[in-house]
Amino acid sequence: MSGIIKLLPNHIANQIAAGEVIQRPASVVKEMVENAIDAGATKIQVFIKDAGKTLIQIIDNGDGMNESDAILCFERHATSKVANADDLFALKTKGFRGEALASIAAISHVTLKTRQASSETGTLLEIEGSKIVSNDQTVCPVGTSFEVKNLFYNVPARRNFLKSENVEFNHIKDEFERIVFAHPEIAFTLKHNDTEIYQLNPAILRKRIVDILGRNSNDKLVPIEETTEIVELKGYIGKPEFSKKTRGEQFLFVNNRFFKDTYFNHALNKAFDGLLPSKHFASYFLYLTVDPSKIDVNVHPTKTEIKFEEDRLIYSIIFSSVRQALGKYNIAPTLDFERETSFDLPFEMRNMPATEPQVKVNPFYNPFQSNTATSGASKGNQFTKAIHSEGFGTNDIRKSDWDAFYTIEEEEKANNTLIDEDHSSFEMNNFLFKGRYLITTGATGILLIDIPRAFERIIYDELMAKFIGNPIASQKLLFPIEKEFSSAEITEWESNASLLGRFGFEWKFDKNMIIIEAVPAVLQEESIHDCIDTVLAKIAFQDIDKGEIAHALVLSIASSVGKTKKINNSVAARDLMEQLFLCPEHAITAEGKRVMQTISLDELSKRF
Ligand code: ADP
Ligand code: MG
Repeated sequence: MSGIIKLLPNHIANQIAAGEVIQRPASVVKEMVENAIDAGATKIQVFIKDAGKTLIQIIDNGDGMNESDAILCFERHATSKVANADDLFALKTKGFRGEALASIAAISHVTLKTRQASSETGTLLEIEGSKIVSNDQTVCPVGTSFEVKNLFYNVPARRNFLKSENVEFNHIKDEFERIVFAHPEIAFTLKHNDTEIYQLNPAILRKRIVDILGRNSNDKLVPIEETTEIVELKGYIGKPEFSKKTRGEQFLFVNNRFFKDTYFNHALNKAFDGLLPSKHFASYFLYLTVDPSKIDVNVHPTKTEIKFEEDRLIYSIIFSSVRQALGKYNIAPTLDFERETSFDLPFEMRNMPATEPQVKVNPFYNPFQSNTATSGASKGNQFTKAIHSEGFGTNDIRKSDWDAFYTIEEEEKANNTLIDEDHSSFEMNNFLFKGRYLITTGATGILLIDIPRAFERIIYDELMAKFIGNPIASQKLLFPIEKEFSSAEITEWESNASLLGRFGFEWKFDKNMIIIEAVPAVLQEESIHDCIDTVLAKIAFQDIDKGEIAHALVLSIASSVGKTKKINNSVAARDLMEQLFLCPEHAITAEGKRVMQTISLDELSKRF
């Protein structure tokens, strides 16, 4: 009895499979240029006619192929790059699926010329719809030339589906750019209908980016460099003031392969939070290097989606490094005394004439450097500088005022202890109210600081900066803390294991109990329980934005520590202010709560 199931003829199976890898002319360009790179080419030329509908030609000076390989390369699953399943997890090449050439050959007319250095003559093959129609010896340079003509000639539905020439050529240009950004060491040419679009010489990365974006882009780039044992980051981000209204300049690469990742994009966009005008997008060219065994490239036929084993940690590292780069180049917003109250306003409103916004250059601070342990004298000086360059009443206070202020304070230190007895008590210019608020006066007005929140901000910045480089110091608990966990909570906890470990947590599970044996060393005794509860809540219930786990973790640690910190003398008050003003975003906590309020002299006199 014969059934209804039939095996598809080979050529139809090939055409169907081709649709997965080759969607449009740009896909051919991508696959073939990648093959040229895999073949070790140092020079790759791309010639396009009619946006690839008529001709796509790729010429490389790579290794070339001998005759039998030239024939074999058009077979499905024919590849020289992977021999066994283990190789899939140690990929050093762009290709490995052995599908591209088979797919292209199934739906176009292909001419291949190729020669290896060891051979006098090359091979010339003509292929139509997967069939070899001629095979000759030829004279040709070492390397390979593929001509792909009449793409989709036998798949009319696909051919009709192609968009205008403009659109299709833009797709080609996009694919081309993604590759050339990843390989500045290779010379590339792109020509369309005899117009030269790109002629790129081998260069360092920055030069390559500038070659593509245009000469005046050089000033807009801020370098990023970070090495951790999980990932190495390098590349450039665009300064916020040059951000664009299109998403065009957002490039992520891993091991020199372009990839798309909404999750990591989120980390980058988040790092630019508050720095971009609305409807503007950050620019970035970020290159990740990770151990090939820690990523899976094979999740999608076009290999632009990649699974990362340590995605959460990498998210946090990207976020912090970008933040750090923005801070280092003083791009993070600096808020002066007068403008501080406008912080909650949306970006556009901050640009309104009443208070003129400006990015101020403060050459003295590196917000992420932990300066907390420096001595009083140098700190005082730094604080003065910070306040001056912050614009903390720059126009009204001269440095001498501040120096004088500190000199007097220094002298009176002995009998100038801040006393908090539910009444405000004061000394010179610093007052403490209810143990919670620090009130300080300057020539332009009064500054009120929420002490726990100020500590929270300082500790947050410190931890965020530190954990990128090294795991945060851990302290063993004398009495381990036990908590009951649901199985879902255990899963959540485990999936954040490496991140939690980096923050100094150590634990084991015993049935449905978690036994916490060590916690971050910054935690003071009285804040341990509070912190663990917050972390648990964040980990277990914050399903929404997993990438922000690091942020949430640091936040809960910082706020638990912040709550327990006390100020009891003017030296401590000054230390606090000093450290606070070294934070690029000292006016708000990482959660966006106000750390300080100001009352200007004007406002004050209006009240009387
Ligand atoms: P993959 O790149 O996944 O191996 P392809 O179908 O793209 O599969 O290519 C098949 C094989 O053909 C490659 O593995 C390689 O050996 C050979 N090949 C393709 N393009 C070139 C080229 N430009 N130079 C040398 N060899 C090539
Ligand atoms: Mg390939």
